[in-house]
Amino acid sequence: MNERVRERERIRDEVRAGKRPMGPPVPVPPKPMPRLMPDPNKDHQPESYEDLQLGYHSSLFSALERHLRPEMLTATRDVKANFMRDILKDYWSPQRLERDRWYKTYRERIIRNYQPLHEELYTLNPKAFFVPEFLEAINVNTEQSFRSIMSRPAPGIFTFKMLQPHFCELLLSEVENFKKWVHEAKFRIKRPNIMNKYGAILDDFGLETMLHRLMEDFISPLSKVFFSGIGGSNLDSHHGFIVEYGINRDVDIDLHVDDSEVTLNVCLSKEFLGGELFFRGMRCDKHLTTATYSDEIYDYPHVTGQAVLHHGRIRHGAKATTSGRRVNLLLWCRSSRFRVEKMLRKDCSSWCGVCNQEKEDSKRSLERQLEALLRKGGETTP
Ligand SMILES: [Zn+2]
Repeated sequence: MNERVRERERIRDEVRAGKRPMGPPVPVPPKPMPRLMPDPNKDHQPESYEDLQLGYHSSLFSALERHLRPEMLTATRDVKANFMRDILKDYWSPQRLERDRWYKTYRERIIRNYQPLHEELYTLNPKAFFVPEFLEAINVNTEQSFRSIMSRPAPGIFTFKMLQPHFCELLLSEVENFKKWVHEAKFRIKRPNIMNKYGAILDDFGLETMLHRLMEDFISPLSKVFFSGIGGSNLDSHHGFIVEYGINRDVDIDLHVDDSEVTLNVCLSKEFLGGELFFRGMRCDKHLTTATYSDEIYDYPHVTGQAVLHHGRIRHGAKATTSGRRVNLLLWCRSSRFRVEKMLRKDCSSWCGVCNQEKEDSKRSLERQLEALLRKGGETTP
């Protein structure tokens, strides 16, 4: 039985029951068939689109495939890919697509011409990169082993010792070498994001594969446990960069949220003063500028090699670096699957401090109304 017939029957039943005035049948407008389902088909194993030149990131197609209508799932991969590309066009502007294309060419030009200084940084070497206790906890791979090395100073924030001092020094030196090359080659450097005027994107000069492995093998195990509700179980892409603060650099950074599901932030430098990170609670887009609750306030002083792993939607900023130079490694970890689901569902977030407060307030108000109603009922009952 289709939906329209069911709707007509419901109306007829309501008229018979006296819930609806008798009259000419109410026309039911046909509903347009949605191209995607808001809830993903969890049992469906999506195909890989990595080898196709589709213009958009292949992981987006795999994530979107779970939302196709059942009758579409049996189509060939090419048919599905074209169908999904048409849908994506509604969300991605042509300008954005053009920018993505330009960026791909830009990165290819750097990789062809830049000569790395420390080749050993370009392949992940866990023993040389990480402190032993971090490596041990990841190898054991249990919630208990992770908790044994981590502190959780506030909701959605974890800190732990992560990088070897020698690795931090090598990475700083590689970044300097890249900047020197950019200057000599008169190459235009792309900055990591709109808020940082200094710094560099590590993925641009060959560190993408190493950072992807770092995310997959060392951050994903943690985020599966601590950030599963916000895409932490399906991290599949990243944006890796360094930021620089100090005199003649960026001094501080205002309150903002990251374009990430989970952010890794590790201080690489040793000689600086100030620059503390300040965290002010998780917020959805609707509540970005709302006030902070007292239990959401947390300030973090940097420690060389120590990581802060946090929910991408926690509002945070950095206080002024008052002397020296502070350089931090940032890895914005993202999940296509989470983003596609969020785009299709549009429901209220379960983690925003204000949304949660509003839900709590409306629950309390309902309880109060109910209590008042019961009291009133009690008063009038003889
Ligand atoms: Zn909210």
